Amino acid sequence: MTFKSLGLIEALLKAVRLQGYETPSPIQQKAIPPILEGLDVLASAQTGTGKTAGFTLPMLQILSKNSVLHRRPLRALVLTPTRELADQVYNNVKHYSKFLDLRSAVIFGGVNQNPQIKHLRNGVDILVATPGRLIDLENQGHLSLSKVEIFVLDEADRMLDMGFKRDIDKIRSLIPSKRQNLMFSATFSREIKSLAQTILQRPTVVEATPENTTVEAIAQQIYRVAKEKKTNLLIKLIQDGNWKQVLVFTRTKHGANKLCKKLESARIFAMAIHGNKSQSARTRALSGFKNHEVRVLVATDIAARGLDIPLLPHVVNYELPNIPEDYVHRIGRTGRAGANGVALSLVCAEETSYLASIEKLTKQRFKKEIIDGFEPDPNASTLPPKQGGGRHQRRGGVRPTNKRSGFASGASRSSYNRRR
Ligand code: ADP
Ligand code: MG
Repeated sequence: MTFKSLGLIEALLKAVRLQGYETPSPIQQKAIPPILEGLDVLASAQTGTGKTAGFTLPMLQILSKNSVLHRRPLRALVLTPTRELADQVYNNVKHYSKFLDLRSAVIFGGVNQNPQIKHLRNGVDILVATPGRLIDLENQGHLSLSKVEIFVLDEADRMLDMGFKRDIDKIRSLIPSKRQNLMFSATFSREIKSLAQTILQRPTVVEATPENTTVEAIAQQIYRVAKEKKTNLLIKLIQDGNWKQVLVFTRTKHGANKLCKKLESARIFAMAIHGNKSQSARTRALSGFKNHEVRVLVATDIAARGLDIPLLPHVVNYELPNIPEDYVHRIGRTGRAGANGVALSLVCAEETSYLASIEKLTKQRFKKEIIDGFEPDPNASTLPPKQGGGRHQRRGGVRPTNKRSGFASGASRSSYNRRR
């Protein structure tokens, strides 16, 4: 299977080669042909399996075939839930359209709108946007969606989790009803299916389930520990193991900041990535982590989900998530078949019920270990911690995605990421 056999034009094949891709990933193989035919497509595949190229490549091909060069009305709209994702998709669009005469732009909130408006004024064919800023600029008359031919909802499950349903409805009312619709998601929940029903017309449904790798490829270790000893245990594990690149999850933004400070004072270079950080701080943290300048990236679930973080040797749950599906997503950041990925969870008394939910969801019983000097506190309450942070509890529906990356062995995603 090659990109060429999927029917892509030479300008795109060239761009793909430049990215170093050798073979299309399973979801790309399945999604690209029906999109090229102009059909509505609902696609789902695990995070990190190349969904972005799965919709971007055929979208660019369609746009380049019937180009409207003189006025450049906005013809393709890609919605993503977060700024980082918008930026990532935009970068993909730019890379893949390198040899085509198409213009693109990205808009998201949290930064000055004026440069974005200026960019739009020149005319763009493709706009990548987060919902809030898009609606804002549309309201102010800085953009029109009346000529949109292709509408893409990327990371649709995240969009729902983050409460964007109403914004999506609003945006839908601003674009022509006759259009091609694409929806991409990491999971296939009931909510996703019902959203699809309102947006897509007789969609082709494609799903890629990566083979031969299960959650067993990831060593999962559970350490029972007293709450106030977690930080020192983490420091010990990082130092004794000489870990060079660790992704650490905390439940709250505040917890992420606090942990970063403590790691810093132990001379472990750490940065946090979460919703309260400025756009530039988040970008800096992520790129520093990718090129091994930042040793520990501390993240909250929302901030990390969907981000193009390479597969890692170590993922640590400093705190267990209160939503068991998040555990599966978190540990999916480590372990490839054959490589020794380790997912470590530090569990204190009050997280006992979270651990039980995770065991139930993933249908496994963990061996719980205790490290000398970091024993759990036998008197601590086992009541779950109070919920702060204002995060919506998801209503089930997310399948445990205990499968690994769906790339053919020739073009491993992690080796690709390392080369970058
Ligand atoms: P998803 O949206 O499914 O989470 P992305 O589109 O962010 O995944 O892709 C994950 C990574 O895989 C990116 O670094 C991307 O450049 C890379 N990638 C995409 N397609 C291929 C391919 N066919 N071969 C190798 N790497 C690929
Ligand atoms: Mg994606």
